[in-house]
Amino acid sequence: MPHFSLTPLRRALVALVLTALALATAGCGREGSPPVKGPTGSALPTYPVARNFRLPDSPTWQQARRRGHLIVGVKEDQPYLGEKDPASGLYSGFDIEIAKMMSAALGFPPATLRFKTIASANRETALQNGQIDYYVGTYTINDKRKKLVGFAGPYYMAGQSLLVRTDENDIHGPQDLAGKRVCSAAGSTPAQRIQADYPKAQLITYDTYSVCVDNLLTYQVDAVTTDDAILLGYAAKVPDEMKVVGKPFSEEPYGIGVPRSDNALRFALDTALATDEKNGNWKKAYDATLGLSGAPAPKPPPIDRYPAS
Ligand code: GLU
Repeated sequence: MPHFSLTPLRRALVALVLTALALATAGCGREGSPPVKGPTGSALPTYPVARNFRLPDSPTWQQARRRGHLIVGVKEDQPYLGEKDPASGLYSGFDIEIAKMMSAALGFPPATLRFKTIASANRETALQNGQIDYYVGTYTINDKRKKLVGFAGPYYMAGQSLLVRTDENDIHGPQDLAGKRVCSAAGSTPAQRIQADYPKAQLITYDTYSVCVDNLLTYQVDAVTTDDAILLGYAAKVPDEMKVVGKPFSEEPYGIGVPRSDNALRFALDTALATDEKNGNWKKAYDATLGLSGAPAPKPPPIDRYPAS
């Protein structure tokens, strides 16, 4: 454990900030209501449920049908992307909206969706073991992961970046990380990139990025690294304490993870994403969630729809 050395004043300030962060995160109401800074709930689109939809070639869909609802893996501590309200237990954010759009397209009312929080390191196993039907949570598509799971999409393009305290003046990009304590999530592509490309950085990993952020605010690490989309959300919650620095230094195309052999499900989700991008649902969902961390809606990246293997 790194040594915890804060002046009493600093410690009180940090405690205040952490409370503010917890309150801000807890501030979301019902399922489908926006995060704390958001516009009213009506800004979120509703997704009409596909009628008489059948997907006989998808074992995942068939099983969900028998069960009566879908189970979707998500994150619960990523502002504007996937957040769980600790009071109500309800989830909100851009990834949650994508999960709901997909549910409606597959013929399941989004209100019946069950969300299951799964950390970065456990996503492939969760899909392989059938714990979840699909996964929507800042999940980068890459060839290594494609050997284990399938990916619909991409539905968003992020890039690796750095979050530091506002009083930090030495870190402007990954080139400044030598000798610095850098925190990321175990099993994530940003952690792997730091290890491979910036070996002089002192990499510290936890299950989740919110633990890294707590460690940043209490001076136990010098930077948090992951996708800009995630970091901008944390910074937006307490802009006086944290800032995102430098330019993104990777491409992180977000996909919807599915069981590897379920090509029928993957193609159905690709089709559904294309429809929701075209009919404006994607942009409405972005504006009411991730857009609140400051970046205007980009054009979604082209859907890959790679052949079955
Ligand atoms: N997009 C990166 C990844 O899939 C980082 C975010 C995350 O850990 O979910 O590894």
